[in-house]
Amino acid sequence: MTQLRVAIIGGGLAGLAAASVLAPHGYRVTLLESRDRLGGRAGSFTDPVTGQLIDACQHVSMGCCTNYAHFCKTLGIDGYLEPQRELWFMTPDRKVTRFRADDLPAPLHLARSFANAHYLTLGEKLRAGYALAMLRLASTKDDPPFQEWLERHYQTQRIIDRFWGLVLVSALNETPDRIGLRYARKVFVDGFLTHPRGFVVDLPTVPLGRLYGNEMRQWLSNNHVEVRSLTGVRKIVLNKSQAQGRPQGAPGIQSADLSLIRTTDTPIPGAPFGRPWAWGNVARLELRSGEFTEADWYISTVPFDRLLDLLPPEAVDSEPYFANLRNLGVSPITSVHCWFDKPATHFPHVTLIDSVGQWVFNRGKNEHDEYYLQVVMSAARQFRGLGREEVQRQVVEELRRLFAPLADANLLRAKVVTEHAATFSAVPGVDRWRPPQGSPIRNLLVAGDWTATGWPATMEGAVRSGYLAAEELLRREGKPQRLLQADLA
Ligand SMILES: Cc1cc2nc3c(=O)[nH]c(=O)nc-3n(C[C@H](O)[C@H](O)[C@H](O)COP(=O)(O)OP(=O)(O)OC[C@H]3O[C@@H](n4cnc5c(N)ncnc54)[C@H](O)[C@@H]3O)c2cc1C
Repeated sequence: MTQLRVAIIGGGLAGLAAASVLAPHGYRVTLLESRDRLGGRAGSFTDPVTGQLIDACQHVSMGCCTNYAHFCKTLGIDGYLEPQRELWFMTPDRKVTRFRADDLPAPLHLARSFANAHYLTLGEKLRAGYALAMLRLASTKDDPPFQEWLERHYQTQRIIDRFWGLVLVSALNETPDRIGLRYARKVFVDGFLTHPRGFVVDLPTVPLGRLYGNEMRQWLSNNHVEVRSLTGVRKIVLNKSQAQGRPQGAPGIQSADLSLIRTTDTPIPGAPFGRPWAWGNVARLELRSGEFTEADWYISTVPFDRLLDLLPPEAVDSEPYFANLRNLGVSPITSVHCWFDKPATHFPHVTLIDSVGQWVFNRGKNEHDEYYLQVVMSAARQFRGLGREEVQRQVVEELRRLFAPLADANLLRAKVVTEHAATFSAVPGVDRWRPPQGSPIRNLLVAGDWTATGWPATMEGAVRSGYLAAEELLRREGKPQRLLQADLA
């Protein structure tokens, strides 16, 4: 039997996840990636001074990220993830609270740590506890502005900053005044209230470029996935034959050459959105090199703005599935990488309260005897318009104040990296604009952390989207199968 060919555009986690489940199902998968490395936004660069791989930004996952864990296990890279069962929270006066789970069922496993948190008063803890209980009960049908919801539930700005924002800004890459209730609830319920393992942070022990490196490439090669790096796709070319695009048995339009015209609004059972395949098929991909490549199925996993550029403008303009993507916004993340001549702290990572930096990762000593700290700031709009030097100055000054050994340490070098479109912004009602993985083009599936996954923009969301796109492909082939992994229960 001839193998069906699947061309996946983009070698980020969504594309890799789709490849990892489709190749074992007997598909001949080709991964087309414009860069010279895999992993997409979860990537590293080579430090010109030491030649070492440095993550553009530290990435972590959590125990509740069951699909990401499954993906790493499948590819044999889970051994590079180190569970952090303790978290540290530091205030500007250098006081630290340690969070760790007790041997109690969720949600009581963190109750003692929460009760001991030095950065909230007893009254604030009681208020936060009340709102947590209400959040757990809140309906996810609606997605009202979370800040208003918090205020309605007796949360002061100090509690919002020191408790809710502390967790949500890192998890959602947005501030509480810009997000909706749905994803805020998801973070707290899945991460902290449902399962004792949910909150455990998994930290890679190697740079991301290494994590998504040799073993993963070997796995892909063993499973006959062809990886074509430095192969950018310029256009998704749709065919001109409407008839070819119709699924078998679906009533349709007889004339050809109509593939770019919306055909009917009559609901058709079985077709996505209740309409026939108004957009025909993908015929081929035009590469940036000028070559063309063809497959039976195509999965786009590029960021949403790139997908809009790849498609014919007529298809984007008249198809809400695509046009709605214009409503998605983005949020930036800044990371400051610092190399000192002295160690700063014995903590492997520290979350900062009331500070410029949000999360400090202590990556230890390198072979050049430099001590490497990375400070991450999510939803980093406050730095807009400031030069890199000013951002670096603020962060380094703060590090020196917070960690006594740095007061007289030499900063050997530093680097500021800002990803302006780090993730989509989880504003209230954002799910209206996140499309499902089955597109209105019969043989085109769409994945990426921004598609409808029920998750915020994370590695877990990206992997889920890849699995869901593969599920949709199998469903369209008449071989439905569940690939998505169960949540922690
Ligand atoms: C600074 C930063 C920090 C983050 N921190 C975390 C974290 O701690 N934990 C977490 O879970 N998530 C984090 N994220 C989010 C996480 O990185 C993303 O959710 C995830 O990597 C998205 O994967 P993706 O496959 O959907 O998209 P991408 O990673 O964007 O992959 C898309 C791929 O498509 C390729 N591509 C684009 N255009 C073309 C084209 N025309 N032809 C061929 N290839 C193309 C790109 O090069 C890229 O490799 C962070 C993101 C950023 C930016």
